[in-house]
Amino acid sequence: MTVTTVVGLEVHVQLQTRTKIFCGCPNRFNPDQPNTQTCPVCLGLPGSLPVLNEEAFRLSLITALALNCEIARFTKWDRKQYYYPDLPKGYQISQFDLPFSRNGWLEATGAGGEATKVRILRAHLEEDAGKNIHDETGRGADSRVDLNRAGTPLLEIVSEPDIRSAAEAKSYLEEMHLLLTFLGVSDCNMQEGSLRCDANVNLWIEGPDGKRIATPIVEIKNLNSFRGVEAAIEYEAARQLREYEKTGRKLGDPGVFKQTYGWDQDRGVTFIQREKEEAADYRYFPDPDLVPVVVTEAEIEAIRSSLREAPAARRKRFQAEYGLSAYDSSVLINQGEESAAYFETVARACGDGKQAANWFTQDILREIKERSWSIGEFPIPAPVLGDLLKRIVQGELMVKGGREVFSSLLAEADEDIVPTTARVAAIIDEKGLRVVRDTGALDVAIQAAFADSPKAVEDFRAGKQQALGAVIGKVLKQIKGADAKAVRERVIELLSAN
Ligand SMILES: [Zn+2]
Repeated sequence: MTVTTVVGLEVHVQLQTRTKIFCGCPNRFNPDQPNTQTCPVCLGLPGSLPVLNEEAFRLSLITALALNCEIARFTKWDRKQYYYPDLPKGYQISQFDLPFSRNGWLEATGAGGEATKVRILRAHLEEDAGKNIHDETGRGADSRVDLNRAGTPLLEIVSEPDIRSAAEAKSYLEEMHLLLTFLGVSDCNMQEGSLRCDANVNLWIEGPDGKRIATPIVEIKNLNSFRGVEAAIEYEAARQLREYEKTGRKLGDPGVFKQTYGWDQDRGVTFIQREKEEAADYRYFPDPDLVPVVVTEAEIEAIRSSLREAPAARRKRFQAEYGLSAYDSSVLINQGEESAAYFETVARACGDGKQAANWFTQDILREIKERSWSIGEFPIPAPVLGDLLKRIVQGELMVKGGREVFSSLLAEADEDIVPTTARVAAIIDEKGLRVVRDTGALDVAIQAAFADSPKAVEDFRAGKQQALGAVIGKVLKQIKGADAKAVRERVIELLSAN
């Protein structure tokens, strides 16, 4: 028996606009002052009329184009009817049969680390609902509603059921998160609910006779962490297998509907919320208060040509342009747009992508992790680090010397001394870190060390290689910028000559 997990994700992302989608209220996460960002439009008062926020639509177009979607030239708004206390109008303005975009794709990583392409069925724009707040002390039935979020622009991105494991679902969501933050269309703050998703999960079970059945589809609602998505799907896949083995119920059987489940993070289990029949009961119809949107070829082209490079494309370019491994380019890109830009500035300034990547993935990441900094808070400007690394690349400094300069710059920054290229040069001089190419000076130091350690010289001549350690140590102490390997070679050369 072969069991395959089949997953489609519906990602909801709040767009980062100044105001809400159909009114002028501020679009800001503000749970401490509930119901302070509302007006007759988002409260659904009679006689109020919605007007589309052009910026929300523009950010949606940017996202859809970055997801390789086709853009509809004509798109309209529909009312999705349902009653819930956080939806005062009694309907949600959404897009039903003519979404503004469809047929795109996003690259993710499969369970074996291979690149996979997940098709995007559609992306549509809608308004978010408010938030119900239930008293969880258990003392009374105290429920409240905060409508600050009502009318926030929400982009829903629906994938095809192309995802084949919990790990791939997590990777898809991580890549989506990265792309959206690269594009700057959302802050993607998952704790605040700016990015959340529903997962449609079922199993394909193939028996020894080669016949395949599918288990009933379960939609797990409101997953709001990468770990949560992975854990919920893993749990749900195992639960469906157990259930199928017990009941034999499968997709297409009479009385089998799609079920809605929730995810209990603390207990690590999915639980049933409701069993529903298909979409029809929302009684969608076109919203008579909003004009349809016509998008021109010129508008699409203008946005397409101004699109920032997507993370997946950038990973590939980093490998080709800077000779990085797939792993290093992923580490750099996955840190986010600001880190990738920092790396590129350093790489270009020093002319050695691998050197820049090494410093970024080891030294910088270690520092910012230890100090809980963001890359924006890291005090050494990219051009200054680039200058330091260029000196290493050109042989003026050893890597070890470079690390000393790096630490000094950070220590100075703690004292409010701004790291500059002038400071780099000064620290190299102060610490005598410049690599000594002058064999004259090196020879003088070596001869002095010989005179200082006659026993070591004697031992070496008697065949004890390790006796040289003392001599080399003395030379390195004398000339800080000297390269240990070069010193060793020169010492042997001088000793062999006489
Ligand atoms: Zn409003």
